[in-house]
Amino acid sequence: MKVIDLLGIPGITAFSTLRDTDSPSEPYSGFSTCSYTGDSYAHYDGCRKELAGYLGISAGKIVFPHQTHSVNVAVVTDTDAHLPDTDAIVTAMRGVALGIHTADCVPIVLADPESGVIGAAHSGWRGTAGDIAARTVAKMVEIGAKPGNIVAAMGPCICRDCFEVGEEVAVHFNRFGAVDRSRSKPHVDLPLAVAASLENAGVSRERISMPPACSRCNPSDFFSARRLGTASGRTLTLVQLHDY
Ligand SMILES: [Zn+2]
Repeated sequence: MKVIDLLGIPGITAFSTLRDTDSPSEPYSGFSTCSYTGDSYAHYDGCRKELAGYLGISAGKIVFPHQTHSVNVAVVTDTDAHLPDTDAIVTAMRGVALGIHTADCVPIVLADPESGVIGAAHSGWRGTAGDIAARTVAKMVEIGAKPGNIVAAMGPCICRDCFEVGEEVAVHFNRFGAVDRSRSKPHVDLPLAVAASLENAGVSRERISMPPACSRCNPSDFFSARRLGTASGRTLTLVQLHDY
């Protein structure tokens, strides 16, 4: 498997996976670990085993919530817990990896390396409008993080030029200053809105990294729901606090 490293903090692993396929029009072709978007068990389970091998941990130590475009944030204290209707997770457990699946939505990884608290969030347009990024920071603070220590990075997601929306969606992003109205239809800059949400929660701008690439502009590297439909694979973005 191939990854793009995020955060760049010693003692913390954080990355987004590359799809790495020669057949980008086939919706599940490439590396994908998502279990609930129509992929075959054999495929996503094989990818999960590859991921566990890459991380050098058992597959049971990798936590994936069942995402539903909610704004619900859960604290992970037990790696066996089921996490239905959950779009962000935080933990202070060492060695446990938190995984978020996306295909155009914004994946966010966060860490307070001093207090040893990490988080991962899925911020699509609904989640972003509902401030899931700020809610994730607040939940990290509940378990010991300090906003001023938090470093955040966004993984690959849809860029402003690719994200043409209707007015009913755009209206939610005026408060973030994230709507481009220079073309016939509005275009929303989701990463800009996520950065504003994080800043509102006390994370300083210079500690926020913007996405490394657009998911829709790079079909061989990333899954894109706008290109493939929602019945497709997902890019994994993951964060893990080392247990050594
Ligand atoms: Zn794009």
